[in-house]
Amino acid sequence: MQCRLCQKDCTLRNSHIIPEFLYRPLYDEKHRALLVEPDSLDRPFVQKGLREKLLCDACEGHLGRWESYFAGRWFDPNILPDEVPLPNQVMTVSGLDYAKMKLFLLSVLWRASVSRRSEFRNASLGPHEVKIREMLLADHPGPADAYRVLAAVVVQRESRRVVYEMILPPVQKRVQDRVSYELVFGGVDWLFMISGHGTSELDGYCLTEHGDLPLLPVESDRIASVLALYQNRGKLR
Ligand SMILES: [Zn+2]
Repeated sequence: MQCRLCQKDCTLRNSHIIPEFLYRPLYDEKHRALLVEPDSLDRPFVQKGLREKLLCDACEGHLGRWESYFAGRWFDPNILPDEVPLPNQVMTVSGLDYAKMKLFLLSVLWRASVSRRSEFRNASLGPHEVKIREMLLADHPGPADAYRVLAAVVVQRESRRVVYEMILPPVQKRVQDRVSYELVFGGVDWLFMISGHGTSELDGYCLTEHGDLPLLPVESDRIASVLALYQNRGKLR
């Protein structure tokens, strides 16, 4: 069978679409109670353990390097504070490795796009699927304005604690009439600007090549309308 990344004919691994380590916080004692009401969302949570024959051994290893980076940087120890008390304040995570971060995030989006599983049916990058595949293969993260990445930290409204147990598949959104994809994992609502890669008006909110990631807080029950956060800040019409 053909590996979806290198396109060589070889034995394929049963690859995860969403990396397994992202589910680890769900099983921590203090996080066991699910505080988010799934019915309030426009899509179901992604269950643990969804796999598909996608990648060869070498490509699993290729993507695994960025998974290891993200797992360590995000969770060991947690890069986000346990609680985010202030509702409208941007906080910035600094010192990230831009290339590894960007390539990891794009690799999750790309896997969802190439997956044939019904859980990821709303993810379809079209011609951008090939472009992102080439970036992943070449270890080339591109500049910050190529597939701009915006991030909002997901918090529970009353406790203000960061919600790690919400893992949502990509859905298409339109931002300034441009196609974007939103997906949720690691306590963050990630937004990828696809068509035209977004606009420069958003640059103040995007992952930078210096490794800075600005995060706006969004309450978990408002996740479907996270774009309103950016709109309310007067940056988007
Ligand atoms: Zn391969």
